Amino acid sequence: MLAARYDALLFDLDGVLYRGDEPVPGAPETIGALRRAGARIVFLTNNSSRTPQQVSAKLGAMGMPSPPEEVVTSATATADLLAARGGGTAFVMGGDGVVGALTDAGLRVLDGEPESVDLVVVGIDDDLTYARLRTACLLVHRGARFVATNADPTFPGPRSELWPGAGALVAAITTATGVEPEVVGKPHAPLFHAALHRAGGTNPLVIGDRLDTDIAGAAALGWDTLLVLSGVDTEEELADSPYRPTYVAADLRALLLDDVVRVTGP
Ligand SMILES: [Mg+2]
Repeated sequence: MLAARYDALLFDLDGVLYRGDEPVPGAPETIGALRRAGARIVFLTNNSSRTPQQVSAKLGAMGMPSPPEEVVTSATATADLLAARGGGTAFVMGGDGVVGALTDAGLRVLDGEPESVDLVVVGIDDDLTYARLRTACLLVHRGARFVATNADPTFPGPRSELWPGAGALVAAITTATGVEPEVVGKPHAPLFHAALHRAGGTNPLVIGDRLDTDIAGAAALGWDTLLVLSGVDTEEELADSPYRPTYVAADLRALLLDDVVRVTGP
């Protein structure tokens, strides 16, 4: 089967395993079969607001029991990356998911209006105020390193509305300071590296539904990709896209098939 050509399977979540609160058809059976075949599985998500425990619970409720250790979020990847560099003090413009991940990794999160910090970390923040935005900008201006969990311009809200994502908050700080952040989430490399490190393989396949994040980011690392058409992007978007997946399929059930042909690559 296709999955057996790789030693790690790195799954995007929304649009691949579920849509909103409904599993994608065949997802529970496929994940179950992959586990019985001994596949190494890790889930990676740009969503910084949910903890790995919450993602694990959601997957379990949809018939895909998965331990929190298999979940890498942009918040936990950011925290691990910054801790590995020595940690320090951080001002956070982001929700509890970001604050919790940084604190768990040993960073000291300062609230209020600190004079200086080592890091300004930005994720999705549904409690954003002008005062916090001002503090973040002043700290970046004074030399704090500017790091973003992700730079998604939007994320799907209820009734298919697009709500402003972390990228919109990042842009406010960049506009005010002229400083570009280091971005951890897809399509940037750190989240992919964190996921592969967690999985433990050397030859991963990334399974995703978005050409401009999942596919573009993995392809930039030279990794093979499976675009599934069960989420955001369609065949029409694929035809117009500069990003080429290694394989294309209707959904993740293709992982269990033997005769999936490469559409790009060697
Ligand atoms: Mg997705």
